Amino acid sequence: IPVKILDDIADAIHERDNIYIASHIQPDGDNIGSILAMGLALLELNKNVFVLKSDIIPSDYLFLPGIEIIKEYKEITDLDLFIILDCSDIDRLGINKNLINKANFVINIDHHVTNTNFGGLNFVDSKAAATGELVFRIIEKLNIKFTKEIATNLYTAISTDTGSFKYESVTDKTHEIIAKLLRCGIDHSYINNKLYHSRSLERTNLLIESFLTLNTLADNKAAIVKVTQKMLNRTKTKMEDTEGIISFVRDIDSVEVACLLKEIDDKETKVSLRSKSYIDVAKICEPFNGGGHIRAAGCTIYEDIGTSEKLISNILTEVFR
Ligand code: 5GP
Ligand code: MN
Ligand code: MN
Repeated sequence: IPVKILDDIADAIHERDNIYIASHIQPDGDNIGSILAMGLALLELNKNVFVLKSDIIPSDYLFLPGIEIIKEYKEITDLDLFIILDCSDIDRLGINKNLINKANFVINIDHHVTNTNFGGLNFVDSKAAATGELVFRIIEKLNIKFTKEIATNLYTAISTDTGSFKYESVTDKTHEIIAKLLRCGIDHSYINNKLYHSRSLERTNLLIESFLTLNTLADNKAAIVKVTQKMLNRTKTKMEDTEGIISFVRDIDSVEVACLLKEIDDKETKVSLRSKSYIDVAKICEPFNGGGHIRAAGCTIYEDIGTSEKLISNILTEVFR
């Protein structure tokens, strides 16, 4: 990491008082963990910190320390600094998108290959395993103490974006950061139980239902699973309860690309893609104005779920031809 960008970010933070922090819609662990760690750290500097809610927070993350500082604000004035984390482009900001124009200065901190560098300062490192790693560097640069609360959030950010430190994006640097976080007294076993071993019965039923729709193609190298509104009704779950389903699809031994199709309504389907070792799924999402990472990406198709499945199936068949 170039020292200059960290210096510039530290200067920008020191010079400003009213600081807003946001991340992307359909938040994941890296999103929530990163905005909380950044928010709690800037509170240590006695800044006026506003951590913005951009969407429903999945129940998995409600245990995180400081979660109550994520709020919706009706009236936003004096936006000295807007720090945007783990967000590849401004459309992903959802309801907070218009704040980009209201902000005196924007810092964009992210690790998506498809990041559009929309900030006044752009700290974008696609080699970082999680935005949490970049937030760690900034807090370190600012000489702020890594409290147990901050460390718990950073651990969550990095763990969730690396499949518990299993993906190829993990480096020796990742483990060095985690070692430092463990020294802050975090209870990693408790965190892991909360994150990965607390699935509700309703959610388990949704997992079962979704797997009944499993379709494979290209010699079982690609697999598609669907979640419809009917399934959510039957199992008394919400769309955010689909978190984690796709990793079970990718776990199938023959599968290189896993796909989860989520029926938003009869004109909109949310697509999630994951790959195991050689297909660039961010590229597959590009024609649909989506993006993400080489091994994890997504997009929205403005068609019903059946039509969307046909479109994606055709592309996947092509990819493996
Ligand atoms: P997920 O499948 O969990 O929704 O997202 C996987 C990855 O792809 C995440 O890093 C997410 O930010 C990115 N992603 C998902 N959907 C979209 C999208 O519609 N547009 C862009 N640019 N990125 C997306
Ligand atoms: Mn994310
Ligand atoms: Mn991330």
